[in-house]
Amino acid sequence: MDDGQEWVASCACGGLRVTLAGPPLGVYACCCLECQRATGSAFAVRAKFAEASIASIEGEQRQWRRGSEAGRWLEHCFCPTCGGLVFMRAEGLPGAISVSVGCFADPGFAAPARAYWTSRKPGWCALSGVGEIARQ
Ligand SMILES: [Zn+2]
Ligand SMILES: [Zn+2]
Repeated sequence: MDDGQEWVASCACGGLRVTLAGPPLGVYACCCLECQRATGSAFAVRAKFAEASIASIEGEQRQWRRGSEAGRWLEHCFCPTCGGLVFMRAEGLPGAISVSVGCFADPGFAAPARAYWTSRKPGWCALSGVGEIARQ
């Protein structure tokens, strides 16, 4: 990735924006039922970034924490106006944030390398070229 490149993720209304100065550490999809509910879609696609690469977080945000299967917390950080889930933090991923790839609105963004919980994905859904992991 180019030096000096920035990645900007924004909710639908533009009220909450995260600017990242470093490249994503990895991109993954998650098809678990919690992610289906959280996104309102068939699966979530997120890019993991080091917390240290956050250049700025602008705008109002609200957080909501839920438990994971492993009994650890996951925190959804979303826009209070439009409800867009822009990024997440997880107890199991210290020092990193997971940013919703759709919030970059960039069709050229890196593809997910792995998909979790593919045992829960809808039958019509094919993730070509993505390493599938049925359970985390
Ligand atoms: Zn918004
Ligand atoms: Zn999930």
